[in-house]
Amino acid sequence: MTEVDWDPEIDTPATVAVVGGGPIGVEAALYARFLGYFVMLFDSAKVGDSVLCWGDAPMPGTWGQVTSSLGLAALEAQGSVEELPSTEDVCTYRQYVEQYLLPIARTDLLYESVQIHSAVRSISRLGCARDTRIPIERRAEQEFRLLIESRKRGEYSQLADIVLDCTGVSSAHGGMATGTGISIGQRQFGDQYSTGKVDGLGKSRDVYSGKHSLLFGSNWPACANALEFARLASETSGTRLTWVIPKQIGGSGLNLSLPDGAPAELLEQAYTLCGGDNVAIVPIAAWGIESLTRGESGWNVKLQVGEEETLDIACDEVINCAPCGADWSFLDGLSANSISGEVAAGSEGLPSPLTSEPHYYVLGQKGFGAQRICSIADGLSQIQTAFGFIGGRSDLNLYETVKPCGQ
Ligand SMILES: Cc1cc2nc3c(=O)[nH]c(=O)nc-3n(C[C@H](O)[C@H](O)[C@H](O)COP(=O)(O)OP(=O)(O)OC[C@H]3O[C@@H](n4cnc5c(N)ncnc54)[C@H](O)[C@@H]3O)c2cc1C
Repeated sequence: MTEVDWDPEIDTPATVAVVGGGPIGVEAALYARFLGYFVMLFDSAKVGDSVLCWGDAPMPGTWGQVTSSLGLAALEAQGSVEELPSTEDVCTYRQYVEQYLLPIARTDLLYESVQIHSAVRSISRLGCARDTRIPIERRAEQEFRLLIESRKRGEYSQLADIVLDCTGVSSAHGGMATGTGISIGQRQFGDQYSTGKVDGLGKSRDVYSGKHSLLFGSNWPACANALEFARLASETSGTRLTWVIPKQIGGSGLNLSLPDGAPAELLEQAYTLCGGDNVAIVPIAAWGIESLTRGESGWNVKLQVGEEETLDIACDEVINCAPCGADWSFLDGLSANSISGEVAAGSEGLPSPLTSEPHYYVLGQKGFGAQRICSIADGLSQIQTAFGFIGGRSDLNLYETVKPCGQ
């Protein structure tokens, strides 16, 4: 087990604040409740929101691989397992959220803990500024103070002994101008376009059906969006997509890129779409978007297609899939850099959930960044490692000891 200069062990009763209600946040909150901690889970949107954007697409793993024995045991205790898929079944993202993540969040174990539409805006430590000279062992004894902006309660603060940062990477989005700079108008109109993967065949179908949309990006969410738009266009007349694929010096043609761990066939399908004769989907390689404005009749976008060449495009909707990074901005009082180069004990090759801030753990996609996919199995392994530190026992593994009947 990794050695640190402070004592990671914290006994119950203690408060664990889980920031982010994606798959890893919900699983981490459940793990903490099983161990007897008091848990608060905050999500700026809703539980499983970022997963739901992938809609009715099949998940990469089987039901057995995307769920945990702990989650299934919690559902069983609640008497709600009869209708669940079997271990070998492949389920869709929507099914996973509706049949697993949400029911877990609604179990007696977590119901009182989950605060949706509650964004964490600031985390600091009582009496310790970021650049303090207070010794780390002493700093580690101080509670965290979180500022929450809640739709229901307005702003309020919450103290916690342990923070599990499970905020993923999807909340932040990047610049669409050349070299990932910010386009003119991007700040002003940033809350009027969509970002990342949209549920174009499900929840947001009506937003894009029969309209001309502009998609910016070359990454996984962009490819997945484009493929869904091709399907939408075949089902609803008038649906069109201009797909702006950013290019760089030295690059030739249309360059798409997926993070490590993403399915290779998606890239293949996206390249086929780009090279095909689908008149509804028009790919354009460009340096970026120089400016964008939104008026009564929709968007006006100025593309920089070459060093000195621009192209004006009018469209109804804009989707920004510019590369995004993890959002660290709410850590205004902490210096929670990941401990670089560390490999979590017992979980070879995974980023350590430990950070330079005592009792502040980063779990799930945020720890991996956007260039490498954190599978749910990876996230569960990190949860086990983190609670090995918190519980003071590296061999602690509730996934081995708590199982639903019959497993
Ligand atoms: C580019 C990319 C594409 C991916 N595509 C796929 C795919 O097709 N299939 C797949 O299985 N996996 C995919 N993944 C991996 C997938 O995102 C992870 O496996 C999984 O969603 C990780 O869960 P998480 O809980 O870490 O983060 P997320 O699921 O992203 O959850 C983070 C949660 O934190 C909340 N949040 C963020 N900031 C705050 C804040 N300040 N306060 C409160 N709440 C906050 C968000 O609302 C969100 O609900 C992809 C990942 C990346 C980076």
